[in-house]
Amino acid sequence: MTLILKNIAKTFPGGTRALLPTSLEIAGGEIVSLLGPSGCGKTTLLRIIAGLQTPDPGAEIRFDGEDVAALPVEKRKVGMVFQSYALFPNMPVRGNIGYGLKMQRLPKAEIAARVDEVIALCRLEAYADRPIGALSGGQRQRVALARAFAPRPRILLLDEPLSALDAALRTELRGELAALLRQFGITAIFVTHDQDEAMAIADRVAVMSHGRVAQIGTPEALYRKPETAFVARFVGNAMPLGGRIGKDRLYLPGGVLALAAPADGKQAFVRAEDVRIDPEGPLTARVETVTFLGTHYRIVLSGITKDPLHALHSGLSAPKTGETVKVSIAPEA
Ligand code: ADP
Ligand code: MG
Repeated sequence: MTLILKNIAKTFPGGTRALLPTSLEIAGGEIVSLLGPSGCGKTTLLRIIAGLQTPDPGAEIRFDGEDVAALPVEKRKVGMVFQSYALFPNMPVRGNIGYGLKMQRLPKAEIAARVDEVIALCRLEAYADRPIGALSGGQRQRVALARAFAPRPRILLLDEPLSALDAALRTELRGELAALLRQFGITAIFVTHDQDEAMAIADRVAVMSHGRVAQIGTPEALYRKPETAFVARFVGNAMPLGGRIGKDRLYLPGGVLALAAPADGKQAFVRAEDVRIDPEGPLTARVETVTFLGTHYRIVLSGITKDPLHALHSGLSAPKTGETVKVSIAPEA
């Protein structure tokens, strides 16, 4: 299903402007992530798409061209997965998945067939008759997805579905979630405040800030060509370099850097992976701290710019705290 959103805004009673007029188009089968800090309006946008929240007047919401703005939630055929999963703990997997279908009063045989189908799709055969309380976090996630998918929704809306899990499990499950969504072939919107998660799961990421979409694009485009300082910082933790930009040079307290393109009127940022300890480098810095992280060292450098700059350094050895080092940053970076 294609989704078209035009002019979606939301002002809550009391005056909180949770969403400023926002437009977005999502292609059929596309997985888009809404990424942004807490309070930026992600859940509000999702709830407006679902029909759980009314947008301010003038909004347009189209599912495959059809105007659904006036349709109530149950007529929009959206599937939803929340952080808590909201599964019934004492009910077996099969009952949880079939619950919504039963509410829709589908014939028993059809419910059984659909439940079996999604159980197979989500590789839950071995757990079908277990109560939810006896499942692992990963298995619960699959049940929540299966339940949302069983009624054949037109779109799946997922609101921070991984955020209740511990860090290791989150990382493990995001790959599984991405694979399942692609297997479903369904259009999906995935809300998260975690940049890595958004990048790992989505075809395109919409970075949100203060009720608006700051930038939307593929993970690569956002990472390599951020359009605002906010996006640069939020996606990939770019550090501001400060200094003074003159045509194609950047003048910093620690030296002068070449820039790949004229950048008058812009701000320079750099990511830690692009800051190199390099005896031939044009910048001079003092090593403040060195942290060994297994695959690389994280080195904090002072003197290049106003704030300390982080460098990721791979190699068998690293400079020592207090040493003076030369540093380079490639013009493209
Ligand atoms: P996010 O999901 O990105 O954390 P939300 O969409 O939940 O953000 O909230 C966006 C803003 O709208 C916040 O400032 C929040 O406090 C406010 N907000 C959300 N729901 C309501 C509501 N029902 N009434 C008043 N303000 C709300
Ligand atoms: Mg939210």
